[in-house]
Amino acid sequence: MQERFYPVTEPHLDEQDRRHLMDAFDSGWISSQGAYLEAFEELFAVFTGSRFALATCNGTTALHMALLALGTKPGDQVLVPTFTYVATANAVTYCGAEPVLVDCEEDTWNMDPARAEAALTDRTVGIIPVHLYGHPCDMDPLRDLAERHGLWILEDAAEAHGARYRDRNVGTLGDVAAFSLFGNKVITTGEGGIVTTDDERLAERMRRIRGQGMDPKRRYWFPEVGYNYRMTNLAAALGVSQLKKIDRLIAAHRQVAHWYLQELAEVPGLVMPVEREDVHSVFWLFSLRLRAAEDRPELRDELMWRLLEDGIDTRPFFHPMHTMPVYDQDGDFRVADRIARSGLSLPSSPRLDHDDVRHIAGRLIHHAEALGALPRPAGL
Ligand SMILES: *Cc1c(COP(=O)(O)O)cnc(C)c1O
Repeated sequence: MQERFYPVTEPHLDEQDRRHLMDAFDSGWISSQGAYLEAFEELFAVFTGSRFALATCNGTTALHMALLALGTKPGDQVLVPTFTYVATANAVTYCGAEPVLVDCEEDTWNMDPARAEAALTDRTVGIIPVHLYGHPCDMDPLRDLAERHGLWILEDAAEAHGARYRDRNVGTLGDVAAFSLFGNKVITTGEGGIVTTDDERLAERMRRIRGQGMDPKRRYWFPEVGYNYRMTNLAAALGVSQLKKIDRLIAAHRQVAHWYLQELAEVPGLVMPVEREDVHSVFWLFSLRLRAAEDRPELRDELMWRLLEDGIDTRPFFHPMHTMPVYDQDGDFRVADRIARSGLSLPSSPRLDHDDVRHIAGRLIHHAEALGALPRPAGL
């Protein structure tokens, strides 16, 4: 009998998505102009409450064009959490600037504002907080830090569409924000990205950078070196359709997280993800830690193998950037080190129902116990 396979994530594609995509195809506007592009940017701006939204090829180009528009140049230093996906650091490197890595908080796994302050130098120009797994960073201390030192803030919101911090939307908490629309994110356009900002000058600069640097008032006149970082109308058609159902998708992610917490929160030896009181997390990936793996990382890896044999896919936490040969740097990253080796993400598709989550949680407890990775109950 073929067991059901549970992927960590899957794109939510339905008949409405197909209709939008085919409509763009049938219109003949398949390249980087068309009504869906305009509609997608407008709808995304409304969704985040930003004045401007500009669609682009992917989340990494979104970060890159934001950094260029902010004026990031060789010699500059930018604060980046060490615990993130590599694109955050890579985008800084594309500008010839240096990502300076910052350790994370114990509970949210996001950039630690106190540690960010300690990492400042006279070359620091900005901060890229990453709202990891859908939980917003503690932005007020970071904004305060930025204000006191004249730094800009670029939110890496690749994993947090629709999240809120103190009743403010992710995407409006810094000078500019970058979202990813990759196939495994909260919503997708296949590959895709989008930036949001309230700053008209930044929006204008990003528009130019995205379109080969062309002078907006003079066709085929290129006063600067730009990029082709445009999105297609086909992708934007998918984006419009996905945005129409984003509230439902986020509610489903939160429901899945709620069910996992019901099943797992009381299990000693497992460390649950938090949702701080002043935030609304979208729980893009339901991620947790195996306490015993802090000292014995092989337990986490063995647990993942055994779950995979049951058809349950999981994902290990990111390797912190300071452990990568290309981003190797000195510093105290002990929280990230501990968290990275003990964490994993569970299947988090919005299509999961309560029985699925119960089943996955049950298998997780079973294998963790069999591995001796959970503390024995007292009295046994
Ligand atoms: C996915 C992701 C990106 C990059 O997005 P792409 O669309 O894959 O280029 C950047 N930062 C974080 C935190 C991500 O998760």
